[in-house]
Amino acid sequence: MRGQHLTILGATGSIGGQTLDVIARSPERWSVHALTSHRDVEGLAAAARQVRPEVAVVADSGYASALRDALDAVGLTGISVAAGEQALAEVAAADETDIVVAGIVGAAGLRPVMAAAEAGKRLLLANKESLVMAGAVVMDAVRRGGATLVPLDSEHNALFQCLPSGYVTGESLPPGVERLTLTGSGGPFRQRSLATFASITPDEACRHPTWSMGRKISVDSATLMNKGLELIEACWLFRVAPAAVDVVIHPQSIVHSLVAYGDGSVLAQLAYPDMRTPIAHALAWPERVDAGVGRLDLAALARLDFEYPDDERFPCLRLAAQALEAGPGGPAVVNAANEVAVDAFLAGSLPFDAIARVIEGALFRAGNVAGALDFERVMALDAAGRQAAEAMLVADRGMSR
Ligand code: NDP
Ligand code: MG
Repeated sequence: MRGQHLTILGATGSIGGQTLDVIARSPERWSVHALTSHRDVEGLAAAARQVRPEVAVVADSGYASALRDALDAVGLTGISVAAGEQALAEVAAADETDIVVAGIVGAAGLRPVMAAAEAGKRLLLANKESLVMAGAVVMDAVRRGGATLVPLDSEHNALFQCLPSGYVTGESLPPGVERLTLTGSGGPFRQRSLATFASITPDEACRHPTWSMGRKISVDSATLMNKGLELIEACWLFRVAPAAVDVVIHPQSIVHSLVAYGDGSVLAQLAYPDMRTPIAHALAWPERVDAGVGRLDLAALARLDFEYPDDERFPCLRLAAQALEAGPGGPAVVNAANEVAVDAFLAGSLPFDAIARVIEGALFRAGNVAGALDFERVMALDAAGRQAAEAMLVADRGMSR
């Protein structure tokens, strides 16, 4: 078998680093065409040293010469350097690449995801924000480009594994499939009293009980917005209405999601909470490779618990459903507002319990979210969501004074 070539978008992040770990375990299968980061040139050079890509890209064009220097410093003079948003799209669509790992965080991931979809790549999607803000547009690009979209997000990867073989994402579910159930750990504040939410610090929010992840998704997990984004993501990946998807809290993060069939059967995927399992699955699918993950010992775990999500302490889950009901543009607004609110929380300028308020206010203020979406409309809604959230931040600061 000819080795396959990868572009890893967001190679310096949590998903990117774990992808590098998985491919290092089967060097005969995969080689790397391109690695990208935002500004972390040292991290990118270290990754490049490991896998020797043909191209290294920084998204911020002001960092091009710093990247050249960082590569020189580790003795990599033969690698092409590129910079800027357009360069991200180019390495995602390049003829030299077969598989694109979408590991950029946030709305910045949308353009390269679109480029990979249009170019018909095997697209391993971790960047859920792109599907949340532009699901119809991305799925249309996947169809037009003949791309294969394999979910990396652990819950969606689990659902994909529990669906009948031959099922392709974006198509209607096969007859007999009745419900999809997303599991979620409940985050670090599952048992914390609402009265103390205002004093939660960024470090507390980023200390996830079961997963080790980047800071943005860690905060999303703490507010449960992550589960809301995942609900929207599931609707696009598996072409279902939100009513066919439910959420159950499962603190141990061993059961990653479940598919219920009409005969009463429920299929679940189980594994330790380690993203290398879904990454290895999506890379090798339909084959299986070593992911470096320990073998599950159920007796040692002894118990698996499940409970309903608490809407009152975690309103973000409901907000995501509300975004879908508001109209096709609702999720783009909510995604953008969430990014602004999470940034402000991480910067120490917004209390944890105000994140949901900012998002709800932004959805209300952002204006018309009805009507069909195209790429330009999505970008306009993203901008409107950010602007409305900034206005809410100012209002919230005024209120808490
Ligand atoms: P990290 O913050 O760890 O990494 C983000 C990556 O994206 C870095 O390589 C970063 O570069 C790059 N990046 C950030 N901003 C930009 C930008 N504006 N333009 C281009 N590149 C940028 O995030 P994670 O790996 O945790 O998450 C990545 C995505 O995967 C998210 O959408 C998340 O929701 C999803 N996901 C993550 C999981 C996890 O376990 N981590 C699980 C399931 C989904 P730099 O280092 O230079 O800043
Ligand atoms: Mg997930």
